[in-house]
Amino acid sequence: MTMKVLSIASEMAPLIKTGGLADVVGALPAALAPHGVELTTFLPGYPAVLKAIGKAKAVHTWDDLLGAPARLLAGKSGGHPLLVLDAPRYFARPGGPYGDAAGHDWLDNWHRFAAFGRAGADVAAGAVAGQAFTLVHAHDWQAAMALAYLRFASGGGASPSVMTIHNMAFQGHYGADVFPALALPAEAFALDGVEYHGGVGFLKAGLEAASAITTVSPTYAREIRSPAFGMGLDGLIRSRGGRVSGIVNGIDPAHWNPATDAALAARYSVRTPGQRRANKRAIEAEFGLERDEGPLFVVISRLTWQKGIDVLLEVLDHLAGIGGRLAVLGAGDAMLEGGLHAAAARHPGRIGVRTGYDEALSHRMLGGGDAILVPSRFEPCGLTQLYGLAYGCVPVVSRTGGLADTVIDANFAALAAGVATGLQFDGVSYPALAEALTRTVALYGQQDAWRSVQRAGMKSDFSWGRSGKAYADLYTSLTGTT
Ligand code: ADP
Repeated sequence: MTMKVLSIASEMAPLIKTGGLADVVGALPAALAPHGVELTTFLPGYPAVLKAIGKAKAVHTWDDLLGAPARLLAGKSGGHPLLVLDAPRYFARPGGPYGDAAGHDWLDNWHRFAAFGRAGADVAAGAVAGQAFTLVHAHDWQAAMALAYLRFASGGGASPSVMTIHNMAFQGHYGADVFPALALPAEAFALDGVEYHGGVGFLKAGLEAASAITTVSPTYAREIRSPAFGMGLDGLIRSRGGRVSGIVNGIDPAHWNPATDAALAARYSVRTPGQRRANKRAIEAEFGLERDEGPLFVVISRLTWQKGIDVLLEVLDHLAGIGGRLAVLGAGDAMLEGGLHAAAARHPGRIGVRTGYDEALSHRMLGGGDAILVPSRFEPCGLTQLYGLAYGCVPVVSRTGGLADTVIDANFAALAAGVATGLQFDGVSYPALAEALTRTVALYGQQDAWRSVQRAGMKSDFSWGRSGKAYADLYTSLTGTT
């Protein structure tokens, strides 16, 4: 029997994406289908989403969804069912899902995502004819209020629910003054409800309401129990004890496969990794880098403190000094962007920088780079190191969160056993990163060992098989179906 689950999220690839959340939400329906789960994804009706679903059928309307009219549209993405909240007052805006084109967050994000949560709860509770769900799965703070509305205001408090944390750093924390406009009963403003440090916490409210909590790697699930990673919610996470687990993200082999990737100058497989050379030459040309026989590092990242880009800036002179070259693709913090451009100006031909978001270029860089650097201070799962593994672009990562769980360090024993897939370092600091770069350049100099690390990574399986089953097993355990 098919289990019907409502997956509520603010992003879904390929329709709308700012980061890994979208990739995961986009991949889950296909990952769960083989396990007898039909996932219907509920998304905000941003212009890009409405355009993608075309002429969709309205299956429900709200005259007054927290102060504005809205319609529910039914469509499909990649053959999987989609429900879209068409509410122009909240979502018909230029720019990104959370802010304007200049990157400033919309001031009414609390209102937009409360309305989204309110509608999600209605849908989950069966308000829409022909749409019945056994379980609701909310992703990140933007979807979390759905679980709070289900608990306090939809009479659906008993339906099982999962709250997934893709990044604890984003919590949706607002002042107490927004509470009246949420139209929740007064008792919801309580320590075990939506109240958080005197204000309203969206993610916190979802975590309190959820039957089970997941995050996107076992190590991050452990880390968020500590104050350093829990960012104020570590006490709550500890109190939910055995209800918190980690399921590593997979990657979609249809999009991330070097043997079939149309973005690459030359396609290759684990048997023909030598063909990567053509892709490396293409990246050197594209970033204006000198050709030489040393390793070409790449970085594909949001340019933020979380991602350790400030420490990366500190080691760039060292990287160029030991014979490395670097191509960076990223967008984010203007100071960090400026620092990268300054480093490129200091090291012409050794460091190249492209700011902005470019999906096809990210594929080409993974196909041509020798090593991908991921010096994150914390990383719930991380996807770029998984793409690196699949493409033979050896990941060099800090030992945290999902990076710790998915990369096997090239230490003596792992190299001897032929199982090493990358390099790890402890702590995001100048000495740790500089030493990791030195180790990488030395390993690259031993081409047989390097190729063995590349091949082991390309053979490792990070498709959704295991993780799709882990989600399905969790749903089953919560619904009592066998
Ligand atoms: P996060 O979600 O914290 O940003 P992840 O590693 O989980 O980090 O996911 C980031 C996703 O966004 C990956 O698919 C990565 O390839 C992509 N990405 C990040 N920056 C860029 C960029 N500037 N251009 C293209 N893709 C990018």
